[in-house]
Amino acid sequence: MGTKGREIVDMDVKELVETLNKAFADEWLAHYQYWIGAKLVKGPMKEAVIAELVQHAADEMRHADMLAMRIVQLGGEPIKTPEDWFKLTNCGYDAPDDPFVKKILEQNIKGEQCAIATYKALLNLTMGKDPVTYNMALQILQDEVEHEEDLQSELEDLETLMLSVKA
Ligand code: MG
Ligand code: FE
Ligand code: FE
Repeated sequence: MGTKGREIVDMDVKELVETLNKAFADEWLAHYQYWIGAKLVKGPMKEAVIAELVQHAADEMRHADMLAMRIVQLGGEPIKTPEDWFKLTNCGYDAPDDPFVKKILEQNIKGEQCAIATYKALLNLTMGKDPVTYNMALQILQDEVEHEEDLQSELEDLETLMLSVKA
């Protein structure tokens, strides 16, 4: 761990590491929810939705990587067992028990909205106290905002399509 890099962190590092580990747990669960959803999803616009789910699954794993690197920089340890994902998660996990495309989109939109709230809270926590973690949280938040928008616009298209079929 870089000693000067650690010195400029003007907050309780142990508490910060715990907060980062909770987000780290969220990212792995979000990754898997997207990844398995992409394998199972059924219904109209399936191909477009699969492309989005696959891309988001990769983004969530990249976020987990960013969080793990920051935790290590802070002298902490990323959680080491998947059992802890469920113990620490803020946003939980929704299994795609109903593979219909609309349901999958709604589940993942809910997840993104929780992620947006989580990273907004992390920005508030670190503002003016830890610029490196703040910057990381901002980068992740930008992705999560884009994810929500992507999924909501696909849901909108799907609803328009379903209405036009009915008419
Ligand atoms: Mg996308
Ligand atoms: Fe993420
Ligand atoms: Fe996301």
